[in-house]
Amino acid sequence: MLLRGRIANCVRYGCQVLALIHECTHFTDVFDSTDDVYGVTVSLSFWAQDNPEKALRNADSLTCYIGFKG
Ligand SMILES: [Zn+2]
Repeated sequence: MLLRGRIANCVRYGCQVLALIHECTHFTDVFDSTDDVYGVTVSLSFWAQDNPEKALRNADSLTCYIGFKG
């Protein structure tokens, strides 16, 4: 719960934790992610609904999944 609160603050103010998660998803032995869309915003979810295959490999989509799933 504490982590979720910190991540909520990250969305409001920007955060090194989200940047670190984002960058880690790019490692080829992690997700080998792409940067099709940047930004942890509501518009990302709309884009993902129209581009589900790309969303599965998009770094910020994975960042949201890792950071907010719980
Ligand atoms: Zn990136």
